[in-house]
Amino acid sequence: MKVFILLFFLSFAFGLSAQENTALLCSKSRIKNYENSLYVRETGNQNDFDLGFYKLYIDVNYVSKQISGKAEITCYSKINNLNELDFDITSSLSIKKIFSNNKSLSFEHNSDVLKVFLDKKYSTGQKITLTIEYYGQSGATFHFDTKYSLPMIWTLSEPYGSKDWWPCKNLPDDKLDSIDIIVTVQKNLIVASNGLLASTDTIENKIQYHWKERYPISSYLVSLAIYPYKIKTDYYYYDGGKMPVLSYIFASDYESDKDKYNVVPVMLEVLSSYYGQYPFIKEKYGNAQFLWGGGMEHQTLTSLLGPYEYLMVHELGHQWWGDMITCKDFHHIWLNEGFASYTEALWAEYKSGEFGLHSYMDSKKYLGHGTIYVDDISQSGRIFSGALSYNKASWVLHMLRHVVGDSTFFEILQQYAQSDKKYDVATTEDFAKICKNVSGMDLDRFFNQWIYGDYHPVYLYDWNYREDMGKYIVDLEIEQFQLENIFSMPIDITIKTGSGKETFVIQNDDKLQKYIFELNNKPISLILDENDWILKEVKEGIDMVNHDNSEMLLSVSSFGSFGHNVPDGLGYGLIFPREGENRLFYGSLIFGNSSDYVVDNSEKDKVLDFKKKENSSISIYKTNISNLDINTVYTDKNHPESKDVEINQTSYSWSLAPFRDFIIVKYDIKNKGNKDIDNLYIGQFMDFDIGDYLENYIDKNEDERLIYQSADNIFIGIKLLNRNSENPVFTGLLNAVDNWDENIKFDYLSGQNNAFLTDKQGDWSSLLSSGPYTLNAGDSMSISFAIIGGTNKDQLFVSADYAQSLFDHYLTGTDNIYPDQTNTIAILYPNPVNDKIHIEINSPKIQHSKISFYNVDGKKVYL
Ligand SMILES: [Zn+2]
Repeated sequence: MKVFILLFFLSFAFGLSAQENTALLCSKSRIKNYENSLYVRETGNQNDFDLGFYKLYIDVNYVSKQISGKAEITCYSKINNLNELDFDITSSLSIKKIFSNNKSLSFEHNSDVLKVFLDKKYSTGQKITLTIEYYGQSGATFHFDTKYSLPMIWTLSEPYGSKDWWPCKNLPDDKLDSIDIIVTVQKNLIVASNGLLASTDTIENKIQYHWKERYPISSYLVSLAIYPYKIKTDYYYYDGGKMPVLSYIFASDYESDKDKYNVVPVMLEVLSSYYGQYPFIKEKYGNAQFLWGGGMEHQTLTSLLGPYEYLMVHELGHQWWGDMITCKDFHHIWLNEGFASYTEALWAEYKSGEFGLHSYMDSKKYLGHGTIYVDDISQSGRIFSGALSYNKASWVLHMLRHVVGDSTFFEILQQYAQSDKKYDVATTEDFAKICKNVSGMDLDRFFNQWIYGDYHPVYLYDWNYREDMGKYIVDLEIEQFQLENIFSMPIDITIKTGSGKETFVIQNDDKLQKYIFELNNKPISLILDENDWILKEVKEGIDMVNHDNSEMLLSVSSFGSFGHNVPDGLGYGLIFPREGENRLFYGSLIFGNSSDYVVDNSEKDKVLDFKKKENSSISIYKTNISNLDINTVYTDKNHPESKDVEINQTSYSWSLAPFRDFIIVKYDIKNKGNKDIDNLYIGQFMDFDIGDYLENYIDKNEDERLIYQSADNIFIGIKLLNRNSENPVFTGLLNAVDNWDENIKFDYLSGQNNAFLTDKQGDWSSLLSSGPYTLNAGDSMSISFAIIGGTNKDQLFVSADYAQSLFDHYLTGTDNIYPDQTNTIAILYPNPVNDKIHIEINSPKIQHSKISFYNVDGKKVYL
């Protein structure tokens, strides 16, 4: 069956429509905007000088879609003998001239890098002034657009687009000390930009806007938004002053939208109470409409699509986190986006209290792969990953808040805002250091696991209680079941009793940990992380473990199911090849002797006939048989006609090539009842769905006892490994979910019915069974299958042979399941040997080993 993964964005309770999803609005727009923009690496030379003041003149010609510009630049040498300056500026703009101290300077302009050769050598700390004049066609991030038939000109430079319209350092780490932005446009247009408007001057039929930004600013935060706007002016009143709050609104939208901006001064007040005073208080805050589908936190003047509340609060949050303190490079973009995203949650909390906070964070849950730290900063899609840089990163702050406590958390934010990183740039380590200093806690592991580490914890827990001298002793066992990494987190444990509830905080930092609590009242329920402070998955009482031998991943439950659909949502399924998709809807052991007694975990009605044996738990071993064994014991007790059959299931996976393409499952089946069971058929059912599940083929090879499905050059099969098994039955089932009742199951299991058609494409499932057997009371029998993958048919068959070899060598017979682990075991392949043999030795400790070869007569032939 096909699994439909429904991705949707929760957006209830706050008047936030799906269209307004801020991570989506904020990230998607930038990804789109920069799809084609090239990442320009800082040239070594750019580390040799420090940018100071800029006076940037831009003359915008809407008709010719060209600009001409002049940048008067002040900078300072950081080395001795500096005689060259490198700036980033697109090659589509032409350099007219460059001069310094009235002397013209020579330059080279290639591949978006402008090398300016200075008139002399400058020493450390020495001031350099120069003027660069340029003209032509700006790059893709400077947009000539129209809205309501009127010119709309806008920029969105993050991450690497500043060079599209002015000579700069394209990376954020060297902030300009300040900048004047002087823009000339046709008379009917209004230019909105950073800082304060110093003057407007009419020059013939044009108008010149002179903006002054006196706070330090990263190049990507310099912006223009130009349109015949209608301006709404509000004020943010604070202790001892007022600051203008401007809204540049498309005139046609003004009447309908103007009131929606009334909330901005309130947001300024609320966020200033959380983070410290608005950082550009001597200037202004504003929002200017532009034409991309989202927002961009340009310093003192956000550009946005429209007045969406949560988008506006997100971009305002950026004024502290992104603009005042900017990520040093885009590896650490979460310091911008995670913080702005958490600002949304704080706004929800401000409006709707705790419920608002937790509901909002719930909508930002991301339970997938990837690190928050951006490894590849050449891809804007990766930098602005909504899942990681926004959602998961906001969860890191949310979790930090709970780990350090509410008041410490806000103290951290206030101190970070006032730290030496104020109006500067920061890395994760800078922020972590402040957290450590303020909280007095060692948070290294917290930041390592959440910023640099992948995944999230999957907590599996089981609990029970006993009465002891009038007290109730609760035993809790927590196991971390995620694929990678062990997380260290404090977890709130809430135990409800007849007279209320008690909450305990435990520290959980190991794969398997046990805890004991003492209560005066009888416990009714136990909840792990009741208020959802941890980004996690929780499973109670059911175990699902993954084999992952780097080529094949198979989720195995503690009660007979494989895959992820029974029970719902558990496990990863069957992934093959390792970078491929899930190929399994669900699978399970199936056995029975009549339509009244077929035991399986059916997907159709989700009736689980198998039941985990009481007081047993699924166990993982690394033995010298395989690299990972998973052992579990379960029974037929959930079946209404239970015959007291117990199954000891062990699955084996190997991480050595060429044994990575299969997993062996061995079932030791014991009749613990007091009646013999005859006419017993036993099989492995697997509902493989390869690629397009409606177009799978099915085939078999009876000599190899192998049944397999295929599509798109992926072959997945089941092999019956017992060479002496009774009458193997190879059954293909079409649309098993529709046609899978107890009568049909037994007919298929026992080979009385079969829909097997090799040339029909469809939604096949595979069943490979064998029988009839008689299992007398008290007796056991063993049957083993391999689940095998191949990226072509030959490979499938080769891997099937390897699986058979390992089975023959290690797993025949009922002893030798867990041999003495101190033995050293060699794995030989291929078997039989042709001209070469590969010898892999598994040893529990480093030791001298000697290998000798003997022929069949017992004569030593080598070494
Ligand atoms: Zn943002």
